[in-house]
Formats: sequence, structure tokens, C-alpha cells
Amino acid sequence: MSGDLEIHRFPTRVEGAFVNAYLVETESSVIAVDGLLTVSAAREMRAGLDRLGKPLGAVLVTQSHPDHYAGLAEVVAGSDVPIVAPQGVIDTISADDAIKDQIIGPMFGDEWPAQRVFPNTPIRDGESLTFDDVKFTVIDLGPSESPHDSPWVVGDDEKIVFLGDQIYDHQHCYLADGFYAEWLANIGQLRARFPDDAVFHIGHGGPVGSEMWEWQRGYIELFVDTVSNADWSEPEQAKATVVAEMKAYEPSDELQFLMELSIEPIAAKLGLVAPTA
Ligand SMILES: [Zn+2]
Repeated sequence: MSGDLEIHRFPTRVEGAFVNAYLVETESSVIAVDGLLTVSAAREMRAGLDRLGKPLGAVLVTQSHPDHYAGLAEVVAGSDVPIVAPQGVIDTISADDAIKDQIIGPMFGDEWPAQRVFPNTPIRDGESLTFDDVKFTVIDLGPSESPHDSPWVVGDDEKIVFLGDQIYDHQHCYLADGFYAEWLANIGQLRARFPDDAVFHIGHGGPVGSEMWEWQRGYIELFVDTVSNADWSEPEQAKATVVAEMKAYEPSDELQFLMELSIEPIAAKLGLVAPTA
């Protein structure tokens, strides 16, 4: 049984669909899922929380990249709520935040949260938290789209899923962390787990349904194949070939920079070019 809930997505404008987080309103509380990237988006989410007028019960984090936690200081300011994630997500964020600060800070300027709070409450795979009658169960995936991912499932029928970035909604994908084999294996397990009519609330765009598993699997496989088959004696030409092939698969321009950022790291992982950093 899952109780009544209403899902509010932030930011409310879908422009760019750069990154989403959610407030899940139950009868007497609000649960946040992720915390956005920019100061202004996180403030909009906090204003939305204040408007709902119910106490924030917890924050649930779906993965270890900064676009899912960096704005949390704004969202939780003045409260002492548990920010919940598997230990692997907590450890990854603790280890990687300083370097992300150096890379992303200059890209976003004042919109990059100067103060960032991390998940503070570990949870184990398959454990649940319940607010009113609404049960949230974590799946500790380990490495997948990011170095550590943790979708959250609502109720026992598992028809509402906060999937993080396991599926992108017809946008270009970030593969630079190199865990494409793990991601593909996780897709195989997750698509078998959920009912056909499940609704996936995701990190960028959406919501989407089960039909997007096949698109996502195809995107990752094509990307790895195309990087593998490119002629890396001409690196610029190789990169252009990969971009052209991926644009043929997914014509959208959205988040194309994430795909472009992923080409060299995957080529390095495959031993086709020397690692850069
Ligand atoms: Zn993301």
C-alpha cells in the first residue's frame, strides 16, 4: 500500500531541462528528492517547500554528482533534517566535492553554491523510510551513471520511481565517469524489476515510462561502439565522428556538452588515447 502523495518538480520552468529535483508531499510532511545545482533553482525549491507549509521530513539523494546535492544548503537551511543516501554515495560526495568545486565553481560563478551540505544519514540497500503511509525504499546500485547511484522506489507496487540519471529523457548523456558496463547491467536489472506502467521521475527531463529503457541502452552501447571504432590517429576527427553518430541517434542539442565531455574519458578507458588528467 502506498498512501496519498503529490509530486512537485523543481525548477517549475522546464527550459533547458538541465536538472530536476522533487518535493513529495504526503498528508503531513514533505520529502525532498535531490537538491539541484544552482543557487537560484535551489531557492525556488525552498520557496516551494515553504509554500506547502508542511515540515520537511527528509532529503533522499539519488546519486553522487553535484547537480543532485549542491543546492541542498538552500533547501535545508535552518533545519536539521536527515539527508539520506547509501554510504557509497556519501563517501563519493565527500571525496569528490573539492575537485567538483574547482571545476564547476568557475563555470557557474555566483550560481554555484559556495556552501554545500552532504548526505549525513546512511541507509542500506533495500531499506525503507515511511512518512504517513508513503514508503520510500532505496536501491544501492553502486557505480552506474555516476560513481555511486541510488534510485528510490515508492510503495510496494513500485509504480513511482525516483530514478536519478539511470534514464535521460532524449537528451545527451554523461558517460565520463566510465562506468558504462555497470550502467548497462543496472539497466538490465532495473527494467526487469519495475512494472510496465511504472512512472520514472528522473534527474533531467521526464517523467518517462518503461519504453525509455531501450533508448537508454541503445545510447550507451552506440556511444561506446562509436568511440571504439573511431580512428584515434586523428583525435579531432574521431571526436567529430562520435558527435555526428550520437546526433544521428538523438537529434536533440540538449546536454550535448555532457556527451562531448565524455568522449575522451571513454577513449582513455578503452586504451585508445592516453588519459589526460
Ligand atoms: Zn544529473
